[in-house]
Amino acid sequence: MNIDRYHRHSLIDWFSQDDVKASSFAIIGCGAVGNEVAKNLALLGVGKIDLFDFDTIEIHNLTRSVLFRESDIGLSKADVAGIRVKELEPEIEVNSYHGDFWDLLTFKQAKSYDCIVCCVDNFEARIRLNQICLITKTNLINTGIDSKFSQIEIFPFKSGEHIACYECNLPDSVYERMQKRYSCGWLKKISFIEKKIPTTIITSSLTAALAVSNALNLLNNPSESTAKRILIDSFTGHSTVSTIEQSALCPGCASFHEPISVISGKAEIESVFDKQLNDDICLTTSEPILVSFQCIKCNPSEEKPEVVFQLASHFDSSLTICKTCGSDSVDVTIKDSFSINELLSQYAGKTIPTKFIRFEHENRTTIIELE
Ligand SMILES: [Zn+2]
Repeated sequence: MNIDRYHRHSLIDWFSQDDVKASSFAIIGCGAVGNEVAKNLALLGVGKIDLFDFDTIEIHNLTRSVLFRESDIGLSKADVAGIRVKELEPEIEVNSYHGDFWDLLTFKQAKSYDCIVCCVDNFEARIRLNQICLITKTNLINTGIDSKFSQIEIFPFKSGEHIACYECNLPDSVYERMQKRYSCGWLKKISFIEKKIPTTIITSSLTAALAVSNALNLLNNPSESTAKRILIDSFTGHSTVSTIEQSALCPGCASFHEPISVISGKAEIESVFDKQLNDDICLTTSEPILVSFQCIKCNPSEEKPEVVFQLASHFDSSLTICKTCGSDSVDVTIKDSFSINELLSQYAGKTIPTKFIRFEHENRTTIIELE
């Protein structure tokens, strides 16, 4: 480590450059806020930054992304951000992941970070990242911006059990908005256009500064166990800090029985289950599975539909229109809950396509991450 480079940091009594250098972070989403978070962590001299984004750079990103240039248009956001972070501080270990974090980020890897900073722009990704952090007990900082306000939420999951999570007290309107992307039954709506956030670099940089400041705070105070929300009006400077209370009805964390055991297993149905498990244990898959579909006009008989057993997210609502008769009469079966007996008897030979499965047994939650 270059001591001269970090001389000004060494003058701060609460700042340990050695601790910062030993720390590692993941940034999920390398857009406006992700750029600023990466820049701040790099200049502070952290040890490792992993960057995740599935998207490529477009011209409108350039008004809010300090790490991107006009010549980068069309390139991967994660890859370019990684190169620029390395230029800011060559000693940092930087890894870029171009793709969906849900597919790329394993539980083991998530657990290895001191903190994951969520810089995505949609609720579905935030809820998914919250699940990963909750299960692996990894500190999570969530960010949100608009044209005027900066918001961050701090979830110190590493400090213990019963920490409020992102979904505790999330208003119903969020779930209603998420559901608008789908027709009934979790099939994606064709031509659904995601609402874009009106914003400038001002709220992005303010939000990222707050997020990184609080990430440092968690490094310095590992026993901090209160989930908090900070909201700042960037025009007036007015701010509110509120405690996020755990909700007994939370769809994210309330159904977990501590301690949660996390194991990994093969995705083939026959090899996932321990022989000692009771066949009627009910398991939940992390995403809905499209089990089968069949046109009730073309196949009105009792004949069983062909089993598909793939992620419902791989299909859209055009599936409900029959390719043979052209009418809207296709019966689609989508499920996210199965008994072990049902899986073994009806779907033998299939591979479970989801990130993980979970079940409750003897008053504890088991999560199997599927390989
Ligand atoms: Zn919760």
